[in-house]
Amino acid sequence: MDKLQGASWIGKRAKWGNPMSLHKYTYSLSYRLISGSAAQIVFAARNKDNYLSVRMDHATGRLTVSYVCDNAWENKLPMVETLKEFPIDNIQPVNDVRLSVCDRFLTIEYNNKIISDSDEILPPQDPFMPYNKRLMLIGFRQPGSSVEYSNICVDDTPVSDACLLPLGEVCGGKVTVTDEFELTSIDPCIMVRKSVFIKGTVRHAVLYASARGFYNPYINGSKIENRYFAPGFTDYRLRIAYQKYDITSKLIQGENEISAHIGSGYYSGFAGYNSHADIYGKGISFIAKICIEYENGETEDIATDSSWEVSENSPIMYADCLQGEYYDSRMTDHIKYRPSEIIPSPQKPVPTNGQRDDLMFTMEENTIVAPREVARFVGACTSQNDDRIVFDMSQNIVGTVCVKLRGKRDLGIKIRYGEICTRSGELYVANLRSAANTDVYILSGSESECFIPDLTFHGFRYVEISGNGCSLKDIDIESVEGIVISDMDEVTGSFECSNELVDKLYSNSVWGQRDNFLLIPTDCPQRNERMGWTGDAQAFVRTAAYNMNIYNFMRKWLKDLREAQIMYNKNGSVPDIAPLCGDNRGGCAGWGDASVIVPWELYMAYGKKEILEENYEMMCAWVDFQNSPQNRYNGLRTVNGTQVPEQSDLSHTAYIQIQQRRGDHLAYDHSTPFILSATAYAAYSASLLSRTAAVLGKKEDEKKYLDLSDKIKRSFCEAWVQDDGTLAYWGEMSVDDVNNTYFSDVKGSVHHPSQTAYALAIDFDIIDVKKYPRAAECFKRTFTSRNNRIFGGFLGIAHFAPALMKCGCADTAFDLLTQEECPGWLYSVKNGATTIWERWNSYDAKTDTIADRSMNSFNHYTYGAIGQWLYSDVLGIQPSAPGYSSVELKPHYGGLLAYAKGSYITPHGEIYSSWRLDRGKFIYECKVPDGINARLTMPDGSVYDVTKYICCECDAVSK
Ligand code: BGC
Repeated sequence: MDKLQGASWIGKRAKWGNPMSLHKYTYSLSYRLISGSAAQIVFAARNKDNYLSVRMDHATGRLTVSYVCDNAWENKLPMVETLKEFPIDNIQPVNDVRLSVCDRFLTIEYNNKIISDSDEILPPQDPFMPYNKRLMLIGFRQPGSSVEYSNICVDDTPVSDACLLPLGEVCGGKVTVTDEFELTSIDPCIMVRKSVFIKGTVRHAVLYASARGFYNPYINGSKIENRYFAPGFTDYRLRIAYQKYDITSKLIQGENEISAHIGSGYYSGFAGYNSHADIYGKGISFIAKICIEYENGETEDIATDSSWEVSENSPIMYADCLQGEYYDSRMTDHIKYRPSEIIPSPQKPVPTNGQRDDLMFTMEENTIVAPREVARFVGACTSQNDDRIVFDMSQNIVGTVCVKLRGKRDLGIKIRYGEICTRSGELYVANLRSAANTDVYILSGSESECFIPDLTFHGFRYVEISGNGCSLKDIDIESVEGIVISDMDEVTGSFECSNELVDKLYSNSVWGQRDNFLLIPTDCPQRNERMGWTGDAQAFVRTAAYNMNIYNFMRKWLKDLREAQIMYNKNGSVPDIAPLCGDNRGGCAGWGDASVIVPWELYMAYGKKEILEENYEMMCAWVDFQNSPQNRYNGLRTVNGTQVPEQSDLSHTAYIQIQQRRGDHLAYDHSTPFILSATAYAAYSASLLSRTAAVLGKKEDEKKYLDLSDKIKRSFCEAWVQDDGTLAYWGEMSVDDVNNTYFSDVKGSVHHPSQTAYALAIDFDIIDVKKYPRAAECFKRTFTSRNNRIFGGFLGIAHFAPALMKCGCADTAFDLLTQEECPGWLYSVKNGATTIWERWNSYDAKTDTIADRSMNSFNHYTYGAIGQWLYSDVLGIQPSAPGYSSVELKPHYGGLLAYAKGSYITPHGEIYSSWRLDRGKFIYECKVPDGINARLTMPDGSVYDVTKYICCECDAVSK
């Protein structure tokens, strides 16, 4: 906080909380008909095609409640539905209307007479649809009439004149609206500004800034840096980052304007799948300090205080990560400023429902996470009619758009985003669930306009533009570009081989990372989720570290994870998600293990001990938690993701059923018992922790966790590993145990040990090497007997190829790699994927069938975890010491691949590795950086020491 010493949080007090999330409110006003016969109030408006309205028709004496919806979510025709009509018999020259909304219930008072008393009138909320019961935007629409509105209040608090400006002529709290239909926010995003006078030559000037919300800082009207979504994503209740900007060259002599636009971001906007807003706090605010050092040695600090000004009516009506941004460019000419209010600082200590009272709120400088534009795609128009135009970016990306357009003032566009288009050319958005992902831009009518929504982001390949309550015919869309925003801009790996489909798979895995490593490692970037799921991160981390430099990014996220662990405070349980995001479940096996696996993988890739030191406590707490009595059952481990019952009651069906689902999330055949993966992961985490303790010189812990790991492995073997090395699910368990513990949702079906069960048992060194021959045979058969298709899910995926290599089945690993049928790695590629899908069968191009809308992301990196094997075993680049200070080169050929080549930039420099098959020979070439010991093992077993460069060959046996 040092650097911001003396600065106050500024902004305007949140009068109502985020209007986008208000679902319980009163909306009241008075109206007077000037001409015509009806007045119509619009509210709960997302845009001009989606809203609720109440119309008072003086000619017929009726009040009508209607629902207008463009049905775009379901690709159906727009509708106007009359929800209810009431007679009004007490019309006056000036009439008072009061609407009280609580979810579906509407109370209407007309001139103090209740005409609807909490009637269930409003449309039901489909959890998969964007919200239609929040206050959102308000407006008026009365063709043929002119109406004067006054006393416009929400929850009895007046809406300011400045906010009413877009609606019509405003004077002294009265707004006169004739015909036209306009929308406005009762509490738009804020803009703050300060005039700074520079009185001499500046030697050095720095701006420190942060916000509760996302902010973009400007100097003299220009954005200071090409970065987005500062201050980043942390559990804002506990920690908020601040940024440092060198502004020396941007200041001019004389008057300068320092300003910032602030949107709700994740702070008070929607975050996570519970579709809550205001998780971390209500309202938005800004804090900054400018430190100027003049050539003459004089210094000057300017910190945020009430002398900074705040806008009443920013053009940004709303900006929300999940819902989108609404920008009314006409407002730029009318922005009204007033002195900022001082907003209370976050509380110290942080309130945590009584669980802890010692957590202190902190601010820290962020030098790490800084999402920026890393690429641009020019959209190609794929279909167009008078209503809409669709652009294809050719790549599923994450970020925003730059739309250049021209048209008359007051017209507007709606921009929607989707990952796929159906064969008939329609944008598919059902899988986005309730994340509306819709941006709106209202034209100012100037020569040429450009809209870049920059306080929201979307995951998309296709962009659809339609008119906002108008025809698109009248608007000229000149161009649409997709702007890729990511934290990943340091690529460290490359791979290419003779199979173009495999190359595309590799590229999809890299894109999955670029798209999802934004602020935090997210599961997916498009639907109402975008959360830091730990299970996904642990499965993909090794691949990610090969692809790009992730050290700082993941180091920061591990801090989020540590904080989530202490915020959750359940005896060491690590929540499934970090930062905590309105869902405070404890960690499930395979998810919570990220707390051990991720630090370890970072240590192996980058060789920095600090990562183990920083996370050691969290790692121990998690492993101890896995080992606590309530998480043990006959020596096996049972950590699930629900609130852990006080008394472990394993016969409790609900408890077991949740376990079952997570046994191998999204596996095609649901065939891995949860308790098996939980035990395998517990053994693995304990063994990694023992190795960590060894690195840190903690001898006692080293032994303690090694013993623990061995013990868990023994229990695993007793339960499932037969004398000959094969797995059997029944083991020593009674039939009741089996029914209750394993197959609660697939009772009755016969199960063979799954691909994941074998992969974990082998890759985590649970099955004794001596038993490999038979284990390997059976493991291999789990694939070959099913035409080499892959039935495993999130917990097994990273371990199939490594486990096959371990037991000498490289040929099967290559067969899996090139599997084009479903479930298989190349299936998505054959079906048009440009990123990795969440499900093996997310889409079938042949039949144009899209899987389940409830959980079907087209950008979920987990199955991209095959990437690590392309580097480690196809190119053969593996660290034999942490941080690649010595290297193992073990290239393999297989399948129909004729060549493979690629590189990896280790902390010591680049390793290049390449092989090709030529007339029965395997010809290998590689370069290693100076000072690195590399040991090369050729496929025929011959071994070479490599310094700098080698080219050698051996016989290649046809496979
Ligand atoms: C997420 C996953 C996550 C899982 C756990 C999903 O909704 O998208 O990637 O790991 O839930 O249950």
